[in-house]
Order: sequence, then C-alpha cells, then structure tokens
Amino acid sequence: MSDFTDRELGMHRNITRRDFLNGVAVGAAATLMPQLFAQGETLPQNSPNYYPPALTGLRGSHPGSFESAHSLRDGTFWETAGTPQDTGEKFDLVVVGGGISGLAAAHFYRKSAGANARILILENHDDFGGHAKRNEFQVGNRMLLGYGGTYSIESPEPYSAVAKGVIEELGIDVASFPKYLDRSLYEADGRTPKIFFDKETFGTDKLLDDPYPFPGGETYDLAIADAEAWTKFLSNAPIAEQAGKDVSRLCRERKDYLPGLSSEQKQARLARISYEKFLTELVGVHPDVIRLYQTVSQPLFGYGIDAVAALDASDTGYPGFSGMGIDAEGLENERRYFFHFPDGNATIARLLVRKLIPAAIPGNSASDIVTARADYARLDDAGSNVRIRLNSTVVRVKHLGDPKRADEVEIAYVRSGKVYTVKARHCILACWNMMIPYLCEELPEAQKQALLSATKVPLLYSNVVVRNRSAFDKLKANSIYAPGGYHTHVDIDLPVSIGGYRCPRTPQDPTVVHMSKAPCQAGLPARDQHRIGRIELFTTTFETMERNIRQQLARTLGPGGFDPARDIAAITVNRWPHGYAYEYNSLFDSFVLEGGVTPCEVARKPFGRIAIANSDAGAHAYTDEAINQAWRAVGELKV
Ligand SMILES: Cc1cc2nc3c(=O)[nH]c(=O)nc-3n(C[C@H](O)[C@H](O)[C@H](O)COP(=O)(O)OP(=O)(O)OC[C@H]3O[C@@H](n4cnc5c(N)ncnc54)[C@H](O)[C@@H]3O)c2cc1C
Repeated sequence: MSDFTDRELGMHRNITRRDFLNGVAVGAAATLMPQLFAQGETLPQNSPNYYPPALTGLRGSHPGSFESAHSLRDGTFWETAGTPQDTGEKFDLVVVGGGISGLAAAHFYRKSAGANARILILENHDDFGGHAKRNEFQVGNRMLLGYGGTYSIESPEPYSAVAKGVIEELGIDVASFPKYLDRSLYEADGRTPKIFFDKETFGTDKLLDDPYPFPGGETYDLAIADAEAWTKFLSNAPIAEQAGKDVSRLCRERKDYLPGLSSEQKQARLARISYEKFLTELVGVHPDVIRLYQTVSQPLFGYGIDAVAALDASDTGYPGFSGMGIDAEGLENERRYFFHFPDGNATIARLLVRKLIPAAIPGNSASDIVTARADYARLDDAGSNVRIRLNSTVVRVKHLGDPKRADEVEIAYVRSGKVYTVKARHCILACWNMMIPYLCEELPEAQKQALLSATKVPLLYSNVVVRNRSAFDKLKANSIYAPGGYHTHVDIDLPVSIGGYRCPRTPQDPTVVHMSKAPCQAGLPARDQHRIGRIELFTTTFETMERNIRQQLARTLGPGGFDPARDIAAITVNRWPHGYAYEYNSLFDSFVLEGGVTPCEVARKPFGRIAIANSDAGAHAYTDEAINQAWRAVGELKV
C-alpha cells in the first residue's frame, strides 16, 4: 500500500516525463507508430526537431522499436507484411544493429575496404548506440546529461589491443580521466555510501551509513570501513543483533572458510555453490544478512546472490574471501582502465558515428563531443558512403542463390509499417544474437539453437532530474543501496566536467539521480529469473514505474526535506528487457565446468557472406567485447 497519495507524489504535475508517444500504453503506441510515420514521405529521422536523446518518459526499448521483432518471433509478421519493396540500393556492407558492435564493424570494414566502401547500418530503435544510450535534459537554461545504459569504459578482463586501439583512435585518453573528475566536490561534504532499510523488508524505514559498500554497482565507491562507522551501523541497523555481528565478521575478518583444501579445490567448490550458500553454510551467517545482501549483486549480474556463484563473488571483490588465498590481482589492475563520460559510453557510439559520418556531429575531439548536438538528418544521406537508417527493424537476411557461391545478400527491413529490401556484398549481424534465427532461415539448425540460447539480462536504468540536490546534501548521501527497493541502487553520478559540460556543483543545481533495477525472481535458474524479469519490464506501465520512483525517493530522502511533487523536474526510464549479454554461470551452465566449445562459439560462425558480431557473440556484457566481436566478424567476411 502506498504511503502517499498521487497528489502528494506529484503524479500529475506537468514535468518533462512524457513525450507524446512514450506516455501512451505500449499496445496503443504500437498501432500509432506506423500511421504517424506513414503520413510523410521523409524518413522519421529527417523530420525537423528529430532529436531522440532529449526524449523523456519510456526510453530504452521504446514503443515502436520491438513490435515487429516480436511478431517475427511469433510467426505472425509475414501474414500482414505485404510484398517487400526493393529500394534498388546496393551496398558493400549492410550492418544489422547500430550499437557499439555494429558501429565498430562499419569502422573496421571501412578501414580495410577503403573510404569509398558503401555501408548501410540498420537499427530498429529511434537512436543509434544500442545500449550505449544518451539521455539529455534541459532544466531552465542548463543542459544535463545522464547515461541511459552503458556507464563506463571498464571491464573485468583487460581490454584487447584491438579494443584499446579503437578507444585511442577515437581520441579518448583513458589515463586522463582523473583530470575531469572533481572528487573533492563530494568528498569535502563528507558524503558516504548509504543503505536504505525499508519497512516491508526490515520493519522500519531507515537510512544508515553503509560501512562496507559492495563493489559492482554504479556506486560512488568510497569505503568508510572505520571502527566508528561499524559501531554506528551495528547499533542502528534494523537487523537481528547476531546478524550485525555476522556482517561485521564477514567484512572484517580474514578467515579461511575451506581450510585444508588447495587453491584449485577451493575454486572448484566455490564455482558450484552460490554466494548465498557460501554465506549461510560456510560463513554461517544469520538469515538477516541474506536479506540485507540478497539484491546487492543485481546491477552487475542481473540477479541476486542466490544465483551468483561464490567464485564469481570472490572475483568481484565481495567480502568473505580475503583469508582464503584466492587471487584477485587482475581485477585490481583492470579497475585502473576506467573512463566515465556524463552520458556513459554513448560518447563512444557518438565518436564512432562522427568518424563514419563527419557531417552528422560537429567537432573533432573526445571532449567537444560531449556537448555537440548530432544532426540526425545527416545520418542517412544519399551523398554519404556510410549511412545509418533508424527505426528500421531487419526481418529477413538471405543469400541470393546458394550461400556457398552467392555474390549478394538481400536484407529486408520494416520501417513505418512497410517492408523494404536492399542488397549487399556482405552482411554483419551485430544485432541481438537470439534474434538471428528468425531473420536468417538458411543457418544450420545447431547454430540456430546456439544463437537462441543467447537470451539477455533485463535491466531498468531510470534517470530522474531533481531541481536541486539539497536533500542528498543534508543526508550526506551520494549512493544508496536499497535492498528491498523497487530500484535497488540510487546514485548521484560521478562529478565529471569535460569539454563544455559542467557537472552540477552546488546543492542548488539541478542534478540527475540515477536509479537501477534488475527485475528477476530469486530461487530460480538464472535464465528463468531473466525471463520473468523481461516480462515484468514489458508489462509494467510507465505510470507504475513513475509512481514507484516518486514513492521510493520520497521515503528515502524525505528526512532530508525531499518533496517528490515539488522537486522532480523530469523522468526518463530506460527499459532494457534485452539488456546485458548473458554471461555463462557455473551454477547453471554445466559446460563452464566441463570445458569444451561454448554455445557462443557455435553461434558466431560465419555463414556464406554473413558474419556475426555483438557482445552476445562473446557472451560477455562489455563494450570491449562488442568491439572485439566486430573485429572478428569483419575479419571473417569472404573477400
Ligand atoms: C544497462 C546496461 C549497462 C551497461 N553498462 C556497461 C558498462 O558500464 N560498461 C561496459 O563495458 N558495458 C556495459 N554494458 C554492456 C555494453 O553496453 C554492451 O556490451 C555493448 O554496448 C553492446 O553493444 P552491442 O553493439 O554488442 O549490442 P547493443 O548495444 O545491444 O546493440 C545492438 C543493436 O542491434 C539492434 N537490433 C536488434 N535486432 C535488430 C534488428 N532485427 N534490426 C535492426 N536492429 C536490431 C538492437 O536494438 C541494438 O540497438 C551495459 C549494458 C546495459 C544493457
């Protein structure tokens, strides 16, 4: 039951939360979309004022972006599609999917085939970048940026020479990041990570300092593990006294919970039990500790600690392993390769687009791009060798003739309710791999099954613009872990000023609050948890999400004077039912323990003139993987 009325929450205040299309229910939007666009002859992206980064409301997999794909999956698409219309266009390469992998594939192809190579990128969303999504807000005369998806350059694995090469070619000097980060801005205020205990889970609403923030969320990672913080936490946390002692023991003791086993034996054991089991059975913690930490892993893994293998928890730096002799050195090294733009890795996508189509985004550096406005009307210009066609869902890819000998591939896509075809010498499928079997009937059955297994991890990234952040200041909060919250993590972004962009500096400045959630259902195998979470995201209305956001902020920040009706200026929820690439989990994917060929290796095999990219092709949900897979796919194309 809600603590607040809709009026108190400000549900019907006139804020920038709903662009016309985004405000209507999903089903209604699906039918509206084609009619709207069919009225004009021009591409939607060529319309004046077309500027998707500034759209608010329901973004990510927005209405209009996924309906054709779902109907293709359900076998109903071609019943009403009509006869495809040949545009008469021929390209050297058609790339399906305009995420970082697709853009990088176009970049690599052009480097090897030359600047005259004709390339078309087809993307089903209204913006390019895929998960690397820019959210832009205007509050008064101030422009604010948020990341709607990919947060930063970082990876648990070292960036390959190829991926680093792209980052450098784009002019991003990763080592220079500290120059743009004004840590003193927040540190001077004595802000510390917090935990919000909610009354549904813990019997009372309470905001406390978090003495041991777990790594892996988009958190401002300031550890405050001093003795005073622990004492305060232990005397105030609404958990059983024994649970408090266990938390302290877990985080502070260096103990070997598997004595007598060699390092390999320990790793083998930890790969087979969840972190939850590790805590309950080996560390022997009180059940309240599980309630406290159940959702802490969601931003990174997409599920709670019931489904995280203890070995992965150890690799991620979770507490409990410091006395067990398990090496986490590689992780520390890679953490140093880190760069965060205010719009996240959308800057990488934008830099790639500028390299491919210079006329589309002005400027020439990785700093000036942060505030540069993209001209979407230049993306699909007949005079340009590289073109990006948005709002275009590819529905069929087939060789013209025997795949072994064919010279051309025909690609069919649907835009504004009409199906079109183009031809190409090569095609790279940089789209979500589980979609490929529906596009490409020619593929061998075993490969189709492997592709279908690349189901993705659902995530919700909400950006809420608050008119000022004085409540955060009063409560001395930057990042809040909310174990029982609708969003489990609430963060104010790192204070990054770069190029012409200045991060909010004073408590009076409007600020973007980032909230993240990984919908899932504890207790089930990972893929089932994701399936349930995906359905939840597709079936939850924006209105419900908005109400949950207002409610959560009111309860968390109310003691700091926050009033959701007065203080919220804009809301954008980036819904990603198909988010992270699925990463193999030793608890549920037995082949991880057995070794041998993994499904993604079977799935990504080239076929005739078609090659397969996307981070799915490496089963690794990181930007560098998207680039690595693009590189491999381009290298596999038939000359
Ligand atoms: C919320 C979130 C946060 C993340 N944070 C980080 C991070 O901080 N650091 C990091 O390194 N990685 C992060 N990742 C992972 C990273 O974003 C991805 O690995 C990378 O951006 C994926 O790029 P991609 O091109 O492989 O896939 P995508 O970005 O998914 O791009 C594929 C594109 O193909 C399109 N497509 C699919 N089917 C079709 C079709 N039939 N026709 C046309 N287009 C189609 C899709 O809509 C999509 O736009 C994050 C991912 C998510 C979801």
